Amino acid sequence: LTQGLDSLRALPCETLDGQRMPLWVNTGLFADVARAQKRGAEGVGLYRTEVPFMSKERFPSEKEQLVIYREQLAAFHPQPVTMRTLDIGGDKALSYFPIKEQNPFLGWRGIRITLDHPEIFLVQVRAMLKASEGLNNLRILLPMISGLHELEESLHLIHRAWSEVRDEEIDIAMPPVGVMIEIPAAVYQIRELSRLVDFVSVGSNDLTQYLLAVDRNNPRVADLYDFFHPAVLQALRQVVDGAHAEGKSASICGEMAGDPVAAVLLLAMGFDSLSMNATNLPKVKWLLRQISSAKARELLEQVMQIDSPHIIRSTMNLALRNLG
Ligand code: PEP
Ligand code: MG
Repeated sequence: LTQGLDSLRALPCETLDGQRMPLWVNTGLFADVARAQKRGAEGVGLYRTEVPFMSKERFPSEKEQLVIYREQLAAFHPQPVTMRTLDIGGDKALSYFPIKEQNPFLGWRGIRITLDHPEIFLVQVRAMLKASEGLNNLRILLPMISGLHELEESLHLIHRAWSEVRDEEIDIAMPPVGVMIEIPAAVYQIRELSRLVDFVSVGSNDLTQYLLAVDRNNPRVADLYDFFHPAVLQALRQVVDGAHAEGKSASICGEMAGDPVAAVLLLAMGFDSLSMNATNLPKVKWLLRQISSAKARELLEQVMQIDSPHIIRSTMNLALRNLG
């Protein structure tokens, strides 16, 4: 298997008929960098900045954050690194910032917290911008956006951080900014949201949870949590088409992107890149290299007619097994 990994790493991720699909990784710890590079990742589609915050006893200072972010950006340079602003709340707690709520997943999480605490947001964005000096491979991604107003407010703060950094005589270009599509409301507003940003990235973990009203971490309802649900597939299609209609790229960074069978459908939908756990990258690349994009589109049309997630999954498994 190790030998297989080595030979796969050097090969491009492209279908039999030559359609390229950039495979990116999700990171959090610095240790993820080496694992990603060993498997031939082409960039970072999601750097979860809350991970380094979790190992501290207090909010890291701008300087401390700068050092951590610089490490990520330098390790992947010149490949892009997509840094998501702090996404705490929900299931991700900081010991020094306790939140007690009845419904954490419907409560104070992600962008809602940082817009209520712009000082946390500004420190973080300034650290990201300063860390990218001379590298210019930073992309900024905003979590848990549910509407235009939140996005406008976030963009305003990013511009403010940018001008503050430039006031310190640090010359940095404005990085691409993107929005996570992980709340159903954002799917319905994909055209309006896309107009304001450079790219969109689907968080399929939360989008599945919120579309199906199934807690992503509750074993009792785990059977109902399925990204092959036709409603999820329709939502994903709507996101890609809406972003493309506005001339913006669409990526996906939830666990779904690392499922090789799902990746075939995501390719067929027109996603511009897939971002996944490094462990899954070789499996996804291997399978996408075994199929043509025409065949993938044919399978997508076929499964979009099916109303059961289980039958969609088994239809896909059977069809892909028959490929050889
Ligand atoms: C997601 O929701 O799919 C996602 C990528 O973000 P997280 O898993 O960190 O919530
Ligand atoms: Mg999420």
